[in-house]
Amino acid sequence: MPLSLTFLGAAGTVTGSRFLLEDGPRRVLVDCGLFQGLKELRLRNWEAFPVAPATIDTVLLTHAHIDHSGYLPALVRDGFRGRIHCSEATRDLCAILLRDSAFLQEKDAAYANRHGFSKHKPAKPLYTIRDAEAALERFAGLPFGKSQALDDMTLTLRHSGHILGAATLDCLWRGQRIVFSGDLGRYDDEVMLDPEPVSEADYLVVESTYGDRRHDSGHAQEALAAIVNPTVARGGTVVIPAFAVGRVQTLLYHIEKAMASGLMRRVPVFLDSPMAVSANELLCSHLEDHRLAPDACMRACEVATYVRDVEASKALTENPMPKIILSASGMATGGRVLHHLKRFAPDRRSAVVLAGYQAAGTRGASLLAGAETLRIHGEDIPVRASVHNLPMLSAHADADEILRWLGDFHTAPRETFIVHGEPEASAALKRRIEAELRWKCRVAQPVERVVLA
Ligand SMILES: [Zn+2]
Repeated sequence: MPLSLTFLGAAGTVTGSRFLLEDGPRRVLVDCGLFQGLKELRLRNWEAFPVAPATIDTVLLTHAHIDHSGYLPALVRDGFRGRIHCSEATRDLCAILLRDSAFLQEKDAAYANRHGFSKHKPAKPLYTIRDAEAALERFAGLPFGKSQALDDMTLTLRHSGHILGAATLDCLWRGQRIVFSGDLGRYDDEVMLDPEPVSEADYLVVESTYGDRRHDSGHAQEALAAIVNPTVARGGTVVIPAFAVGRVQTLLYHIEKAMASGLMRRVPVFLDSPMAVSANELLCSHLEDHRLAPDACMRACEVATYVRDVEASKALTENPMPKIILSASGMATGGRVLHHLKRFAPDRRSAVVLAGYQAAGTRGASLLAGAETLRIHGEDIPVRASVHNLPMLSAHADADEILRWLGDFHTAPRETFIVHGEPEASAALKRRIEAELRWKCRVAQPVERVVLA
């Protein structure tokens, strides 16, 4: 049986990363993410996994984001019994993220049942906290930069930047070297490391989130101050939906620096996400995985008041004083940020700042597109606050940076597969790879299986 690769997710879309490597009966799954955004995508989370989870030997994870890890509790519940290998920081972050994901699933189902706006009666969670706990028991953390044998595969993790613990995976299996980019971060970021070069691959799977875009190279602290200062001067609140892991820490770093330099008015900053609080602590305990010195790490984490319980979160929503609120989720698909948006989006004095990728079909994407109302908990909420996008704060490489990372390969891979992008972004990256590198490449199609001969 020849070695094969099947694109079970993140093909034609940015979420649901799931790639299956097969060699006869041996099956290795690379990433195991949730689909997010458009309803037709989210519904795919409820379909049975395309291969029986019990037949998968091993899972490898590039990083902890839910669109790469969030299906694991269901995979384990439905029969997967192997190990889940990833970096140590990814393992630690997943301990926070998967429990939180399960908590949100349970809470949303309960909320829908209480308020009767689910079509399903009763609404059920996709998985439970108990399922998440069972998945976490299967995790094994690996160090960066060392080749290690996992049964008959040799795996090497290298830093990909992006978020704490994020890795590119270099899998040498049956004489073929298959490299997965995972999500690539940015070069010269003040917090995260550069994506580490990879020099060779027989086959390469590369992300294309921003394959058709170049990030504004503007100064993050100046851009933030230019929004925060006038907003608080007119008595408004700045709401920043932020991925609790990654963006929050970078935002806190820039806010602290901007206030310390006098660029930004000193206003109260609230971090309203119990998960982000724990993620901050992890940042300070994995110092080798980012650029911040211990004291800078502490200062960034201390600039905010941490809001842990729901009552305090609700009190914050009611509090009219000018302030900055960072709260998950980053695409406003769920979480406590919804309550803040309900309160502050209709307020002309306030501002909403988007600082990460907003997948199609999310409230974040609607805000970016200039929507006049947002549907939250069955209500249409008017948007009168100013809405801002700060792509320079993105955790994702832009098209030039993806090309820069590809440029470090010494020779062209036999074939390159483009994944993790909306169709236009993936097509644009394909054109650039062909024109600038003259590599053989293709945009992976959903559920497409390719033979790696
Ligand atoms: Zn990611």
